[in-house]
Amino acid sequence: MWTIHRNGRLYDTLDPKSHAVLQIARSLSSDNPGDSFTVKNETGETVGEFKTTVSHMALTKSVQAAALKKYHETMTPENRVVRDDTITPFFIGLSIRGFSTETRNGCDILSDCPTCRKSSRALVRNDATGKMFQACPYCNTLTTH
Ligand SMILES: [Zn+2]
Repeated sequence: MWTIHRNGRLYDTLDPKSHAVLQIARSLSSDNPGDSFTVKNETGETVGEFKTTVSHMALTKSVQAAALKKYHETMTPENRVVRDDTITPFFIGLSIRGFSTETRNGCDILSDCPTCRKSSRALVRNDATGKMFQACPYCNTLTTH
């Protein structure tokens, strides 16, 4: 059996005869940008190494649904005017996932998204690890910063 190590720790084992080991390892990493993966063969020799930089599923369907529910439950006439039906639920969803939006002088730190070209990509911090990411509400991406 071959082994997959995630951030240096044993994560899973796989039969190399399936020829899917690298593809599977890549897909495992897709929701956690910044994680590093190493695939080793039976003798412990490294046969593949990669580090992901972008997740195209910042929010899963279930988190998106929970965020949309919370978005509607917390809507008031006062906050309706400053909310956006795409951007606000996305950042509610990220907070459910344990990310905080970084601010400077009370403002979100925004940048242009290289994928969708919109300028609502915000700097966020993973509360558990302290790692920083760029999060785009339009293409649902989370990118290492
Ligand atoms: Zn984008």
